[in-house]
Amino acid sequence: MSTTRRAVLLGSAGLAAAVAVPGVQYAGWNMKDFARDGYSPNLPTPPEGEVAWSNWSGIQQSTPKRIAVPVTEADLAASITEARRVRPVGSGHSFTGLVPSEHLIVDASRFTGLISSDAATGLATIGAGTRIRQAARELDSAGLALQNLPDVDVQTLAGSFSTSTHGTGRTLQPLHAHVEGFRIVTADGSALDVSATSDPALFSAGRVSLGALGVITQYTLKCVPSYNLKRRVWVDTLDNILDQAMELSQQHRNFEFYYFPFTGYVAALTHDLFEGEVTGRTSDEDEDMLAGLKDLRDMFGWSPWLRRRIASGSLPKGVIEESSDAYWKLLATARPTKFNEMEYHIPLENGLACLRDIVAALESRKDMFFPVEVRITAQDDAWLSPFNDGPRMSIATHAAVDEPYDYFFSLLEPVHRSHGGRPHWGKLHSLGRQELVALYPDFRNFLDLRATLDPAGKFLNPHLAHLFGVDFDA
Ligand SMILES: Cc1cc2nc3c(=O)[nH]c(=O)nc-3n(C[C@H](O)[C@H](O)[C@H](O)COP(=O)(O)OP(=O)(O)OC[C@H]3O[C@@H](n4cnc5c(N)ncnc54)[C@H](O)[C@@H]3O)c2cc1C
Repeated sequence: MSTTRRAVLLGSAGLAAAVAVPGVQYAGWNMKDFARDGYSPNLPTPPEGEVAWSNWSGIQQSTPKRIAVPVTEADLAASITEARRVRPVGSGHSFTGLVPSEHLIVDASRFTGLISSDAATGLATIGAGTRIRQAARELDSAGLALQNLPDVDVQTLAGSFSTSTHGTGRTLQPLHAHVEGFRIVTADGSALDVSATSDPALFSAGRVSLGALGVITQYTLKCVPSYNLKRRVWVDTLDNILDQAMELSQQHRNFEFYYFPFTGYVAALTHDLFEGEVTGRTSDEDEDMLAGLKDLRDMFGWSPWLRRRIASGSLPKGVIEESSDAYWKLLATARPTKFNEMEYHIPLENGLACLRDIVAALESRKDMFFPVEVRITAQDDAWLSPFNDGPRMSIATHAAVDEPYDYFFSLLEPVHRSHGGRPHWGKLHSLGRQELVALYPDFRNFLDLRATLDPAGKFLNPHLAHLFGVDFDA
């Protein structure tokens, strides 16, 4: 099944090529090297006695003196107090420089698994280093569920909450919004149990903390009873989906879409609560579609007109998947093809206008092929949550891991900012203190609290020092 879609795209492309390709332009494009200067999939070579670390895409790298994997809170506290500087790491799925350290990286993955749960209240206490998928499975065994999931589920709870990771759904908040309490080991080694009543300021700051306040060891989450979803995927024109987007987002629990650059088409997805016998996933062609889109770019990128014509003739139309299953088997999928990403969260009322401008900007570059992902998230109230002033539409652009992404900053970021966008903390952006103070009413409160908890700047690295506008002496 999965080779079919790519084959259809290519088969049709070959047909078009046979009838319509001017040889000179084709040959010129065919010799083009799309690779980014300096790209290497390798880890850096660490100095003697040190280790190498890299994020998922390889764009962030460092050679810390040590990566500590403490087993007990006492070990963790000792590691923190002994080190000059510390950065917590989850599963390394952030694209921004939140984690790199030349000193100590602390991996909280031994603080893992379901500690307790209560089906009557929906409250569950879980290790902060637990991966989302493991959390979802263990909760499911206890009859409970997370309220929403992101695209992939390999992130840790602490890592995903700390950057305000989100899924999609007009009424669904980002993941951290369901934190009722957490336990954090701070710069002086003390462990604090934090809730909205015990310490309202630290609770507001600590749910999205960028790992700047300490290392979180466990969360208490408000969960819902286990649920199944029905998934529907269909291909339609961008114009049709833009016309219907707001209505679809109100009609369905989860609504999102992917625009395929230079085609005029999108794949739209909805998920809705489902009771009854489930089918399991009936189709999984994401990777194959991506490969087909890349092939089209590689062969026909020189002619946007031809590319669009080929795509419109060969892309499937209408419903391409209907499946039902447990929510955690449908909402998150695997992403084997690596990329780098920028995602901005736009006030909902500006979202579609921003998307139109982003599509126009992207299509000013013939080398684009990665789909643009569009989602909606409901409001919450954490100080550094991008969603804390109302619902937002998230627009994500991707570049293949070995291809340039400099245009994220020069071409796309100004468009996002002109529409009132706030960046995803874990995805590429260039903002620093000045811009962030203007975007977040509580940014200064966060900085004050951070300085009180960590006066020596133990949890800083160059990226955080830039975000916070503080000096950093490596
Ligand atoms: C393929 C892919 C798909 C993605 N899909 C989505 C998506 O659908 N929606 C979305 O919003 N984002 C998405 N992201 C972004 C990702 O969810 C975030 O960057 C998230 O923060 C990564 O979690 P992590 O466990 O890898 O944490 P890391 O990237 O390792 O760390 C993130 C932050 O958490 C801090 N941290 C980690 N552990 C702790 C701890 N125990 N205590 C305190 N701080 C800690 C770190 O210091 C850092 O500041 C995706 C990323 C990739 C690569």
